[in-house]
Amino acid sequence: MSRIRSKDTGPEKKVRSLLHQMGYRFRIHVKSLPGQPDIVLPKYKKIIFVHGCFWHLHKGCRDGTIPKTQHKKWKTKLEQNVERDKTHTKQLRGKGWKVIVVWECEAEKKIDKVERKLSRFLGQ
Ligand SMILES: [Zn+2]
Repeated sequence: MSRIRSKDTGPEKKVRSLLHQMGYRFRIHVKSLPGQPDIVLPKYKKIIFVHGCFWHLHKGCRDGTIPKTQHKKWKTKLEQNVERDKTHTKQLRGKGWKVIVVWECEAEKKIDKVERKLSRFLGQ
């Protein structure tokens, strides 16, 4: 499997429609940037990743745990994803982008929290 997440997932759609409501314009899945960021706001030089809790090992999250079956295989795979995320974030920051992560569980269950988080991030 080469892709680490599917496109147009539920949580990503939620974040996108929230941003629309907030009046922001953005581009999605920008291939020319490291990590092909989910949401890019070129005008603000800001990037939003919407991460699946499982695939990106959301710390302290019920869904961000390594499965017990085939534990070693999953551990390697998921930790590689996390490393890749770190590398991409570093590369993007090096290019002057500001980067934030919205987690799947936040988008699914705490959209008002996401709204506050994003308005802080974008208002900076
Ligand atoms: Zn989570």
